[in-house]
Amino acid sequence: MLKEHFKRQAEEPAELTKKKNRPAGRGQVPDGMFRKCDGCRKVVCEEDVQKNLYCCPECGKHFRIEPRVRITLTVDADSFREWDAGLVGKNPLGFDGYEEKLQQVRESTGLSEAVLTGEALIGGIRTAIGAMSADFLMGSMGEAVGEKITRMVERATRERLPVILFCCSGGARMQEGIFSLMQMAKTAQALKKHDEAGLLYVPVLTDPTTGGVTASFAMLGDVILAEQEALIGFAGPRVIRQTIGQKLPAGFQSAEFLQKHGFADRVVKRRQLRKTLTILLQSAGGKEYDGKTI
Ligand SMILES: [Zn+2]
Repeated sequence: MLKEHFKRQAEEPAELTKKKNRPAGRGQVPDGMFRKCDGCRKVVCEEDVQKNLYCCPECGKHFRIEPRVRITLTVDADSFREWDAGLVGKNPLGFDGYEEKLQQVRESTGLSEAVLTGEALIGGIRTAIGAMSADFLMGSMGEAVGEKITRMVERATRERLPVILFCCSGGARMQEGIFSLMQMAKTAQALKKHDEAGLLYVPVLTDPTTGGVTASFAMLGDVILAEQEALIGFAGPRVIRQTIGQKLPAGFQSAEFLQKHGFADRVVKRRQLRKTLTILLQSAGGKEYDGKTI
């Protein structure tokens, strides 16, 4: 019966492309029961994928996950409190159709913007935490994204909290032009003050982390973690090749390549991420939750 099911799917490839609001990763099989892994090309059961922290049970490929899932997998149960939930982006340049597009993406993702920020406990240690969404205009950094991250970092500085930020972005948000680019400086200056206050900042680079995010807060961590096989870079390979006129090494924009060449401190499997973050928070002097805050 299963064989028949897959055979039918093979005969109806259009169904795959027609499907909207796919959870995470590409190659979804209808009904949300199965997905095709774009690592090993096998069809795997969605339930097994979820039990395996949204990694392929066959080859271990790390699928993209949405901010709320990401935070749930990382923090102590029921400890997340969202900050700046009502902060939404506008249309500063009057870009045609942008507001409608934003509205549409808000409805399809259930998110107000491409980043979710707040505070939570990890291993009993209170921390500011943010996670970006690839499904929200490819995690592009608009004004509201920069503002939410800046506010999170500034509040963390005031309340003497570490910051953990799961980065995931296609880069600048084209519809916001220069306002998008300004977010690089804005987030960087907030992180500089957080650093001067002697507080820990750990960006976790997930698939994909590119463009203006790589050129700002993703690379400003005290310790930079990356998820295995994540695509990390600034410009695309074609642009780089045309600019420098050189042949580029294979896999040069992977997390593993970055670790080898010193741009990332540690490539971490998702299964080890929570433990790694707890150790980092503890080593930075994070205290166990005292019951008074959060
Ligand atoms: Zn796989």
